[in-house]
Amino acid sequence: MSATAERSEPVIQLVPSDEERLLREAVSGIASCYGAKYMREKADAGEPPTELWDALAEKGYCGVNLPEEFGGGGLGMTGLAAVQEELALQGTTQLLLVVSPAIAGSILVARGSREQQEEWLPGLARGTTRIAFAVTEPDAGTNTHNIKTRAKQNAEGNWVLKGQKTYISGVEHATHILIVARQELDDGTLGLPLVFIVDVDAAGLTRESIPMALRLPDKQWTLYIDGIEVGDERLVGGTTGGIGTLFDGLNPERIMAAAGSVGAGDRALRQAAEYAREREVWGKPIGTHQGLSHPLAKCKVDIELARVMTQKACALYDAGFKGAGEASNMAKYAAAEACVECVDQAIQVHGGNGIALEYGLTDMWWGARLNKIAPVSREMILNYVAEHSLGLPKSY
Ligand SMILES: Cc1cc2nc3c(=O)[nH]c(=O)nc-3n(C[C@H](O)[C@H](O)[C@H](O)COP(=O)(O)OP(=O)(O)OC[C@H]3O[C@@H](n4cnc5c(N)ncnc54)[C@H](O)[C@@H]3O)c2cc1C
Repeated sequence: MSATAERSEPVIQLVPSDEERLLREAVSGIASCYGAKYMREKADAGEPPTELWDALAEKGYCGVNLPEEFGGGGLGMTGLAAVQEELALQGTTQLLLVVSPAIAGSILVARGSREQQEEWLPGLARGTTRIAFAVTEPDAGTNTHNIKTRAKQNAEGNWVLKGQKTYISGVEHATHILIVARQELDDGTLGLPLVFIVDVDAAGLTRESIPMALRLPDKQWTLYIDGIEVGDERLVGGTTGGIGTLFDGLNPERIMAAAGSVGAGDRALRQAAEYAREREVWGKPIGTHQGLSHPLAKCKVDIELARVMTQKACALYDAGFKGAGEASNMAKYAAAEACVECVDQAIQVHGGNGIALEYGLTDMWWGARLNKIAPVSREMILNYVAEHSLGLPKSY
């Protein structure tokens, strides 16, 4: 099912269908051949996870959400979230899956012209076209309405982009970047946001990597945009879509963040339970002590709740329901909180070993912690729920 599929009744598949089960098994099988060790080696070498991406792409798993008519798997966000969850369970979360098929793919499906869909979606579905996503700016941050990157049409009708972006993931592994800019009006003021596809090596674009504690192969970049010129065919959604064009990619982004958090949290929890069953210091497993078993049991409850909320968000999104916004935000919130709790408790259960590199939990920590900040912070989700779900006044 695609983002433009006709509205149908949303169904949460509590027991995976045969199709989903086979998908999960296949992705898990590939990811387990690489595993967390591969991700760490790639991070240490400063290289993107190309081999794993290519192995997934070859089987079509990088575009399972995209419509079948463009070469995708036709499984909607339910399918892509399952892929990300299985990858995270194996310690191999892919940031580009969040930005390329989920954000860029969904925006193109919802807003692209037929020509743009035919040009971009088959490559996205094959995973050979990889589109990073650039909205965040140093002085706008969470407030995307306040971005200052500008786009103006020159005498030839081409768009010229100027500005700066920061914390942009995976540019070194991308072929293109979806850049959000605001239209510069004749009087120099800035109008509606516009969305452009730009070549990663376009003239006028330079980048600088940001040193991060995060131990992931994908790097984070500041982009300096100084006169990138693109034709009108690279403008997605026209000049009137405004923030709506951008927002068409944000629910899929939240769903993918939730799915990654559920998988990573579950991974940490499984490791913690196994350790607590085996480690003995008082003549019986440390998991016997309720000081450890109860927090782990609570983690299990929280991760399962987050998983069901993520399934609900997927079901609503794939059925084309407006309520997908609330569910996607809630899933992202619940999963991020549960994931941090699971990783933190797993570290606690491991005692000193929790901080040793050998056990892999320190590698997971900043990734888990990141989910409370990006792609949307916990505070902005709570703002959304307060305003839209509870009808409380907007505070900002
Ligand atoms: C590893 C990583 C990868 C990223 N990848 C990308 C990417 O690929 N593309 C991209 O465009 N961006 C990306 N980002 C940026 C990310 O989306 C932002 O960091 C995030 O949206 C928060 O913005 P900020 O860092 O500027 O924080 P700020 O906006 O400065 O916020 C700081 C704090 O203030 C709180 N706050 C702000 N406003 C309010 C309010 N109204 N009410 C209550 N609290 C508020 C926030 O919740 C936060 O806790 C990435 C960031 C990181 C760290």
